[in-house]
Amino acid sequence: MKNENMLIETGWNIDNSYAHLPEIYFRSHSPTPSTSPKLVIFNETLAKSLGLNVEELQRDTGVAILAGNRVPEGSFPLAQAYAGHQFGHFTMLGDGRALLLGEQITPTGERFDIQLKGSGETPYSRGGDGRATLGPMLREYIISEAMYSLGIPTTRSLAVVTTGEDVLRDSTLPGAILTRVAASHIRVGTFQYAARWGTRQDLQALVDYTIERHFPEVKGSENKYLSLLKEVMKAQARLISKWQLVGFIHGVMNTDNMTISGETIDYGPCAFMDAYNPETVFSSIDRQGRYAYGNQPSIAGWNLARFAETLLQLIDDNQEKAVKLAQEAISNFPELYQSYWLAGMRAKLGIFNEEMEDTSLIDGLLTMMEKYKADFTNTFRFLTIERPEETTMFGTEEFSQWYNQWQARIDRQQESKEDSLQLMKKVNPAIIPRNHRVEEALEAAVKKEDFSVMEGLLNVLRDPFAYCPEQEAYTELPPESDRPYRTFCGT
Ligand code: AMP
Ligand code: MG
Repeated sequence: MKNENMLIETGWNIDNSYAHLPEIYFRSHSPTPSTSPKLVIFNETLAKSLGLNVEELQRDTGVAILAGNRVPEGSFPLAQAYAGHQFGHFTMLGDGRALLLGEQITPTGERFDIQLKGSGETPYSRGGDGRATLGPMLREYIISEAMYSLGIPTTRSLAVVTTGEDVLRDSTLPGAILTRVAASHIRVGTFQYAARWGTRQDLQALVDYTIERHFPEVKGSENKYLSLLKEVMKAQARLISKWQLVGFIHGVMNTDNMTISGETIDYGPCAFMDAYNPETVFSSIDRQGRYAYGNQPSIAGWNLARFAETLLQLIDDNQEKAVKLAQEAISNFPELYQSYWLAGMRAKLGIFNEEMEDTSLIDGLLTMMEKYKADFTNTFRFLTIERPEETTMFGTEEFSQWYNQWQARIDRQQESKEDSLQLMKKVNPAIIPRNHRVEEALEAAVKKEDFSVMEGLLNVLRDPFAYCPEQEAYTELPPESDRPYRTFCGT
């Protein structure tokens, strides 16, 4: 009876399938309670879609769960084990400041991980304090929700609570917990952990679990492990192409930050590029530019090769044959990625069909954009709203030539000009979370406890393809600064 009431009250309907995996994959652990939790941002739309009770969740008892002071009925909190290549170096990691509360089963029967990020030390904290601070958690909230609205697969943000405790970083900062919602938190690093420290049975259990949860369609295939590899490659090719097409730079594409589901995860030092330049890096710790914008597709390929290695023993008993099959699959990644990217780029230019010369048309534009330091988002936006005169390249001979070539390309296809512009509006966002806007929102929230600036920003980010007057102010570039924008890992 009590169970039913709980369910009606808050809507939590938690299962713990991950806890049925072999015990090497997790450590059962409870969140550290917060002294005086306060809900500062709550995602009502997401809550509703998860089947949660929007009113109850915002009351004290509901907030207590988001603050780690109470676990929802049926939950079995745990920290997940994983390893990863960080900037190319393999290491043991695990949830050092996050706990999985379980999986919420939605009214339509979907399953989503519910994770508290910043909820205190865990057995994998390795000397860290297990805490998170308000700025980075709000940053993850803003950018992950913006990604969602841009149509990019991503983990989502349900809420941020402040804990009422100070957290010591370079200075003292307000502690906070983000509730993260994900298709799952299974990473390439989870597989690396399994292959390195688990038995064959352990690995098999993880693989079967992952197939069941994310790729049930491969169950019937001849070699389901090879099929799994191919499906994950597809999901990642699709994801990374979507990043490239909006100018998103993840910033820390370590193998532990690459999901098997194909969702973007871990919004630490990520940011959107302003002026187009493939060498753009924002992260303060990425001194070699390993994770620069232009490197993201090849890094994804590198990470997938690490994933493939973990599956070798299952792909075939004959090691040589397994390597050959995996290599064949992996070598196809650049082409696979390119096909998603090219399809996306064609759409960005209002092109419906395929012509051989499209690649050179696209390259021509990008080369010019780099040369004239053209803003990535606004260039496509100006083409979409037929205001080419506002692009940085306008007035040059090369731009008029390119423009004429593009117009001729559009005229050659069956669809009308109007159809092209419609298509462009659907895929070229007018709005991205511009770095100066994000900073402005965070500063007001963290320094002045004024959350209205962030609310305003979230509001326009919710419909990035609206092309409405209310968005205009958010399309403006940051004032010129002699300092490059820098981001930091969200600790
Ligand atoms: P990330 O940079 O968020 O991908 O984290 C890399 C690793 O560091 C993961 O194992 C995290 O759990 C761990 N980590 C990050 N911040 C903290 C922290 N404040 N306390 C403990 N572990 C942390
Ligand atoms: Mg991470």
